[in-house]
Amino acid sequence: MSPITEFLLSLCFCASCASRYDALNGDSDALKSKVKQALEVFMADSDPWMGVKLSKESLAEILGREILTYLLMRENSLTALYREIHSIAQEFLVKVKFFDSSALLDEASLTPLDVSWIAGHDNEEMNKAVDIFQPALYRDSPEEIAKLAAHYRKELTAPLGASLSPMYPYNKSRDDLVAKVKSLRESGFVDLDFYLLDTMRPRDLTWIDAALR
Ligand SMILES: [Zn+2]
Repeated sequence: MSPITEFLLSLCFCASCASRYDALNGDSDALKSKVKQALEVFMADSDPWMGVKLSKESLAEILGREILTYLLMRENSLTALYREIHSIAQEFLVKVKFFDSSALLDEASLTPLDVSWIAGHDNEEMNKAVDIFQPALYRDSPEEIAKLAAHYRKELTAPLGASLSPMYPYNKSRDDLVAKVKSLRESGFVDLDFYLLDTMRPRDLTWIDAALR
C-alpha cells in the first residue's frame, strides 16, 4: 500500500484519542467518517495514492485542515504522557529515555527528524520532556551514522543515545560497527544500546565487545 494509505490505517479513534481531539474543538466522529470514506477506494478497488508523497499538505487535501489539529493532538498527548512519566521517574532517581523511530521511517533519509510527525511526536517538546533522546540508527555505513549523528546533535539539546544493530542488513562488518560506535561517541552520544539480542549470533556479541572497547 502507499505511505498515505498506511498512515490513514494507523490513525487511532479510540475513546481516549477521540475525547482529546474533541477537547480541541474537533469533531472526532466526523473525522473518523472522512478517514473511513477515504479508505473505501483502497479497500474496494485500488490504492489511489501510489506514488503520492505522504505530507501534512497531502493529508489536508484528502481530509481537510482538521487533520492537522488531530496530528497536533497526538503529539501533545505523547509529550504530556512523557512529562508525567518523567516526573514520576525522577522521584525514584530513574532516567527516562525516549525511543525515537523516525530514522526507521525512511531508510534513505539523513534528516529523519523532519518526518517524526508521522510517528506522532514533537521532537522539540519531547527533547525537553525526557532525560535521553534515543533514536534507532539502523544504517549500513559508518558515514551514514556520522551524518545522522550530526543531524540529531544539531536539532536537539537533550543528551543523546542511539540504538544500533550489529546485524545484516544494518551492519556488515566488525570494523563498521567499531567505526559507528567511535563516531557516535565523538558526537557526544552518551548512551548506546544494541538491539535484538534474541536474533544475534555469538559472533555479533564479539563485534559489540570490540566496538565498546
Ligand atoms: Zn487512541
